[in-house]
Amino acid sequence: MFDANYYYLNYTDVQKAGTNPLLHFIRYGWREGRNPSKSFDTNFYLSQNSDVRDAGINPLLHYIRCGKREQRAICSDQGGVRRSFGPPRLQMSHNEDHVQQLTPEESSVINLLKKVNFFDPAWYLAQNEEVQSSGADPWLHFVRYGINENRQPNPFFDPVWYLNFNKDVRNAGHNPLLHYLRHGVNEGRKAYNTASISILAVEHCTNRCQHCSTCSPFANKISYPASAFFPWLDMLENVLVPFEYIAITGGEPFLHHDIGALVHDLRERYPSKVIGISTNFFWANENMIRMYAPMIRQLNGLLISLYPNLVNKLGSLDRFDKLVNLVRKLCPEIAVEVRSQSHFLSWELHMDKREVKDTCGTSDCYVLRSDGKISHCSIGVGLENRPEYQPVVNTSKERLFDLSKGIEGFKSWCLKYPFDLCFHCTMWRKISVPWSENRG
Ligand code: SF4
Ligand code: SF4
Repeated sequence: MFDANYYYLNYTDVQKAGTNPLLHFIRYGWREGRNPSKSFDTNFYLSQNSDVRDAGINPLLHYIRCGKREQRAICSDQGGVRRSFGPPRLQMSHNEDHVQQLTPEESSVINLLKKVNFFDPAWYLAQNEEVQSSGADPWLHFVRYGINENRQPNPFFDPVWYLNFNKDVRNAGHNPLLHYLRHGVNEGRKAYNTASISILAVEHCTNRCQHCSTCSPFANKISYPASAFFPWLDMLENVLVPFEYIAITGGEPFLHHDIGALVHDLRERYPSKVIGISTNFFWANENMIRMYAPMIRQLNGLLISLYPNLVNKLGSLDRFDKLVNLVRKLCPEIAVEVRSQSHFLSWELHMDKREVKDTCGTSDCYVLRSDGKISHCSIGVGLENRPEYQPVVNTSKERLFDLSKGIEGFKSWCLKYPFDLCFHCTMWRKISVPWSENRG
């Protein structure tokens, strides 16, 4: 699938630099839209497979690992439209006929999932639009492909989360779902990332991403101490919603005036919680990483976003990787995850009310503010910073729940979707666009 001669002949800059063509493709080439061979069209593959593009996965590696088996097209000569997953026999309705075409292992997994009611086919289709549009049977797709791709079988079990917090399972190379169902459940391991509460620790960000859902680039820089969140976190913990994960978010958390104290105080108050930070990594260089390492070691996880403009600032992806590896080396006990932000979901608010025709992936991303107001989704939390949206924001009564007025009605508020703001919002359409800078 990779043709070094083709690569050298077509990309003479790589040849002139004397760079290994395969390494160049893996590190940079695919992101720059270069093709690994005459027969594989990188841009075509990404344009036809939004799941691959949005996940920031190298398209050739995806094709070798999954796409080939799923008969995905690799260039427009193959018809110009991505083929359905799997052969035609996958395109059957949800009935028991498929059992005859399953391998013994696939049958055994389906039986296991049915026995403990662990697979939600309707939810699976709703979350995986390409599976739905291919007409594939969700059970068959899941046991044949989804399970190996760590797709979620239901809203509650997150295989990636399970691997991150069960390092023995990850290190042994076990499949997280099968491990949980066959062993983890009897060993008392947690299946669910039950509730994750993000705290809005800093309202500001300097990255200015177009479609930033927290509207942080427009906010004045204010940061809050951990104690400002204690009353509300205690209320959620003790009264109604036991949560497991505290995500320190913003804006950009590393702009906090004292992030060391914030993390220390949260850790002291909630010693058994999983605490993580998501960062845009713009602060990173060797000295800063060494300085922050003791604080980072108090966390359980660090989620590093990979923005195209950060790679430009650092000079190369290689340098970004080196800095991430330094964090991993200095903080070996924590889960350091990199997430590509090459694409964003676009959104805007319209004044008129329109029908909501789909689920919204962010509708249960609760963000807690220091004043006790909690939002359904990150969009709900920062709209005050966008004056142009105030007329529509003013009509919303369900965007925020005010914990300072008590907890009554909170659970039903949590479960409500769509809520009033969704009828004015386009985020649920899940339109992915390349990252760009907000110049407004
Ligand atoms: S880095 Fe995150 S918080 Fe900052 S502007 Fe971009 S999306 Fe918003
Ligand atoms: S559609 Fe609703 S849940 Fe989704 S981002 Fe918009 S307001 Fe939030």
